Amino acid sequence: MSNQFVVSVAVPVPLRKTFDYLPSPSAPDRAQYNAGKRCVVPVGRRLLTGVILGTHEAPQVSHDRLRPIEKILDPDNTIPNPVLSLCRWISDYYHAPIGEVLLNALPPLMRQQRTWVQLEASVSTTIWHASTKSAEAKRPRGSKQKLLLELLLQSTSGMEQKDIISQGYTSAQLRSLQEKGLIGSTQVRHFSPPQRDNTNKPRLSDEQQLALQELEDNGHTPSPTLLEGITGSGKTEVYLEWIENRLNTLPSGQILVLVPEIALTPQTLRRFRARFGGNVTCYHSGLNESERLLTWMQVKEGNTHVVVATRSGILLPFKNLCGIIVDEEHDSSFKQQDNARYHARDLAIIRGQQSRCPVILGSATPSFESMNNVADGRYRHIRLSSRISATPLPKVYLIDVKSRPLEGGISPPLLQEIKSTISAGEQVMIFINRRGFAPVIMCVDCGWIAECQSCDVRLTYHRRQNLLKCHHCEKQYRLPPKCPKCESANLKPIGAGTERTEEFLEQQFPDYPVIRIDRDAIQNKGALEQKLTPIRDGAPCLIVGTQMLAKGHDFPNLTTVAVLNADGGLFSSDFRGAEKTAQLLIQVAGRAGRREKAGRVFIQTQFPDHPLLQLIRQHDYQGIYTSEMEMRRQGHFPPVHSMALIRGEAATLEDTLNSLWQMRDLLEATQHSLPSIHGPFPSLIQKKQNRFHGLIWLFSPEKPSLRKFLKHWLHLMESQKPKLSSKFRWLLDVDPIDTL
Ligand SMILES: [Zn+2]
Ligand SMILES: [Zn+2]
Repeated sequence: MSNQFVVSVAVPVPLRKTFDYLPSPSAPDRAQYNAGKRCVVPVGRRLLTGVILGTHEAPQVSHDRLRPIEKILDPDNTIPNPVLSLCRWISDYYHAPIGEVLLNALPPLMRQQRTWVQLEASVSTTIWHASTKSAEAKRPRGSKQKLLLELLLQSTSGMEQKDIISQGYTSAQLRSLQEKGLIGSTQVRHFSPPQRDNTNKPRLSDEQQLALQELEDNGHTPSPTLLEGITGSGKTEVYLEWIENRLNTLPSGQILVLVPEIALTPQTLRRFRARFGGNVTCYHSGLNESERLLTWMQVKEGNTHVVVATRSGILLPFKNLCGIIVDEEHDSSFKQQDNARYHARDLAIIRGQQSRCPVILGSATPSFESMNNVADGRYRHIRLSSRISATPLPKVYLIDVKSRPLEGGISPPLLQEIKSTISAGEQVMIFINRRGFAPVIMCVDCGWIAECQSCDVRLTYHRRQNLLKCHHCEKQYRLPPKCPKCESANLKPIGAGTERTEEFLEQQFPDYPVIRIDRDAIQNKGALEQKLTPIRDGAPCLIVGTQMLAKGHDFPNLTTVAVLNADGGLFSSDFRGAEKTAQLLIQVAGRAGRREKAGRVFIQTQFPDHPLLQLIRQHDYQGIYTSEMEMRRQGHFPPVHSMALIRGEAATLEDTLNSLWQMRDLLEATQHSLPSIHGPFPSLIQKKQNRFHGLIWLFSPEKPSLRKFLKHWLHLMESQKPKLSSKFRWLLDVDPIDTL
């Protein structure tokens, strides 16, 4: 009994360890417990799906306290080694429970207790066909069966079971014919490859051609490359050409293209499909469960060669990965905001090292993390500094709106520019960073402001629905008929959101369409496509929208872009505030003048002399990076230092801060080189959905020492079990993006 082996299993529970089990009585052989198979195991009184990580002889508890594995679900090598080791890396680096990491890396259907055979069947369809002997054989007696056989004899390529059933036959009749050997069936995956069309493949410009050559001259041990191309410089075309060449050299290879949000960038997927047709698969949370499982299987079998995916695509089981592209690498949606809080861009680098394949990070406004890696010589740097249209970048004008009247958020000089653009037959895009009609409802007599009852947040007025909405918890309120404090009926909407600007423009330009694009107007992917089509067609129109407009759109006749209020980002308490503002403004500005006609950008501000706006006016992103990095160096902020944060929440602010202080005491008791610890302090928005939020920040000059420190601290937390307030919840975020 003493040398009996036990099985180590990762189980999706919030504990940072694996669990030991005895082998299942029905599967006694050690070779049946190779790493990467799913199994069903008892946890407390429940049965959960876990992942086998291997076997050993030194269980954490004695054999008689171990329980056997209930059932093995998969054949060997179902979850391949690269995925297992990437998940181990995530678990280690982000201090996330390995079971949760592994199970979340799988498509939802694989998290259920279904065997691989059942899963295969769920994404397959049965095709019935007449067998060779059926033509000469005696006809069956039942007249229905006779008709069914004749039907199948007529169809040369066989028929799908559901089509047969829909014609009034039953599965019993099919089985009966099968038993007589008259018909047979095959299982086929649901899959209809779209058509490929590469008829109008554009010629690369000299600069694009040069960038492509540099990308391809990446030696035997490729280092990651930052492809920094200004807006409109044709990065996507370089990607497409690079992929095509790479797949010509490695016909069985697979390329992963990570994009921020597929629903918001339908044209990116369309361009990949146009170029590679049925070879392109996409993977994102908008797919249904069978589609996700099917894609996972196809990627694993190596049957699809270009995968366009959102962040979770980095965990797909590629058979033969030969390149990774992270497009718009600066986008914060690559950071996972729940469970394992990984950053897909950083995982792309790790995965590239594992698979020894090149990794390209592309952006017009790269993250300062990647710029810093270039400066330190860890990444190569390739630039695309001119637009393919040869039109220069748009000229940026700052409009001083200090003590100027605004109507619908628009100043008189800006209105003038909009008029001249529209009457020249061109399009105008107006960017405003808030949806709704007005961000504030105020009583003019006593100064009362409508706020959410559950959050420290002012309510936004949505006039179409005549509702006040909290943009944090989505709670809705009826507009009060009078002020709840002084009973005055003089309630006024202050400031402008997209709805108000839209309404004002409709009054000013009754002869032109005003197209609003924000989360209220776009509830699904189809709605966005519908709104984008007339804009792409080029008739003069006015487009009003939020940051949904910033992402990669290419509108040929759009020449004027206006930013109604840039000031929110200029004095942000977020140390990344300037970086995020610069990225957003440059991306929005980049929509203007992408073809023959030059573009113009107008930014309304009360602070036209602000250094950040001056640098944006000159399109000097490098200058913004240089001056911001000076500030980060002084403040020990990322990417100069590494950062982690602990976020806690409880029913009162006192409970939250008390518990965080307990955790801080343990941080200081940790026997390891101490990072600098700041806090606890309340979050920027303290109260959200009736919970009070607080933070502790940790900074360290070195990533490895921060990782070791946190590991020690988590051990202390588990062994010493500090007394935290009841209903206190906390999480640890390594390399956080949201830090307030
Ligand atoms: Zn009042
Ligand atoms: Zn709220």
